[in-house]
Amino acid sequence: KELQKWQSSLVVRYGSPTQVFQELLAQHDIKAVYTNHDYEPYALERDQAVGELLQARGISFQTYKDQCIFEKDEVLTDAQKPYSVFTPYSKKWKAKLNDFYLKSYPTEKYFQNFVSLPQEPIPALEQMGFVDMPEVVFPDRQVRLDIVKNYHEKRDFPAQQGTTRLSVHLRFGTVSIRTLAREAKQHNETWLNELIWRDFYMMILWHFPRVGKGQAFKEKYDTIEWRQDKTQFEAWCAGQTGYPIVDAGMRELNATGFMHNRVRMVVASFLTKHLLIDWRWGEAYFAQKLLDFDLSANNGGWQWASGSGCDAAPYFRIFNPASQTEKFDKKGEYIRKWIPEINGFGYPKPIVEHTFARNRALATYKKALGNEETP
Ligand code: FAD
Repeated sequence: KELQKWQSSLVVRYGSPTQVFQELLAQHDIKAVYTNHDYEPYALERDQAVGELLQARGISFQTYKDQCIFEKDEVLTDAQKPYSVFTPYSKKWKAKLNDFYLKSYPTEKYFQNFVSLPQEPIPALEQMGFVDMPEVVFPDRQVRLDIVKNYHEKRDFPAQQGTTRLSVHLRFGTVSIRTLAREAKQHNETWLNELIWRDFYMMILWHFPRVGKGQAFKEKYDTIEWRQDKTQFEAWCAGQTGYPIVDAGMRELNATGFMHNRVRMVVASFLTKHLLIDWRWGEAYFAQKLLDFDLSANNGGWQWASGSGCDAAPYFRIFNPASQTEKFDKKGEYIRKWIPEINGFGYPKPIVEHTFARNRALATYKKALGNEETP
C-alpha cells in the first residue's frame, strides 16, 4: 500500500532464485541489485549464485546488514576472536551500542526513486506448499509496552501472555530489530538480553558454520550414543509422551506453529535427555513446524538443551518436567488448554520413568564425554 502511493509495487515470485532472476533480467532493464545479509548456509549459497549471475552481466550486487544490530566481526573479544560465551559478548555488545546503531534507516527519503510498476498478484501460501492452519493467529506487529515492561516477571509462564510474540515478525522482516532494541533499551533490560541472544546465535552461525551443517559446537558431544527410537520420537512429536508439560508444548506447536520459550526448553531437554534422542531430530522437527523458524536460534536452542552448544547448560542439569510444571504452570492452565483429556481415560501413561531416564542420560553422556564435565 505504501508503494502504491508512489505508483510502485512489489514483484513477488516463487521459484528457483537464479531462474527467477533470469526472468526478471529479461523483463526489466536492471542496473543494480540490493539485498540484505542472511547468514544461513542455504542463503549464502543462494546469494553467491545470484551475485555471480548478475556480475556475469555487469550488474552490481550490493548487500547490507539489516536483520541484526551487530553482525559478523562487529563484536569480538579483545583478542579479535569470536565469543563463545554469552555474558561477555552481551557486555561488549551493550558497550558498543549507540544511537547510530539504533536509528531507523531513512527509507522515506528514497520513495520518489521507486520505479513505476503495475500491481501483480502475490503467490498464495498454498501455492508454496503451506497447508491451511486454522489455529494460527498472526500476532500484531506492534511492540506491546505493557508486555515489555513486565517481561522479567512474566516471561516464564506459558499460560500468560508474558512474551511479545514478535519472533515471526523478526523472522520475516516485518518489524525492525532497531525499533525493538530502542524500546528494549528504554524499558526492559531482560528483554534486551533476549534480542542480544538472537544476535549472538547469528554471530555463532557466521563464525562456526559447521553448527548449521549438523555438527555439535562442542565436538566431543558428537560421540554420544543416541537411541534411534522412532516410536518414542513419534510419541514426542504427537504430544503423546504421558508427560503433560511436554505434550502440551508439542500440541501447541503442531496446532499453531508456535511454542512458548520455557516449554521449548522443557521439550528439547526431554527429547535429548529423557529419551536420549539425537537433538538433530528435534531441531529438524521444529524447523518443519515453527513459523518463527530461524536456523541460528533454533540450532542454538537445541544445542543448548542437549549440552553440546556454546554456553550451554552443563549436561548433568536435567530438567524435571514435574518441577518445571510446579514452577511455571502451577495451576495447570497451560496444560489443560492443550490436553483437554488430561484427567480422562484417553491420556497415555509416561513412556519412560523419570529417575530411570535421568540416570540413563547421565551414564550415556558420561561415557561419551569421559571426566571432562563431571557433576
Ligand atoms: P520474546 O521473549 O518476546 O523475545 C523477543 C525476541 O527475542 C524473540 O522474538 C526472538 O527473536 C528473540 N529471542 C528470545 N529468546 C531467544 C533465544 N533464546 N535465542 C535467540 N533469540 C531469542 N527463536 C526463534 O526466533 N526461532 C527459532 O527457530 C527458535 N527455536 C528455538 C528452539 C529451542 C529448542 C529453544 C529453547 C528456543 C528457540 N528459540 C527460537 C528462542 C525462543 O524460544 C523464541 O525466540 C521465543 O519463544 C519467541 O517468542 P517471543 O517472540 O514471544 O519472544
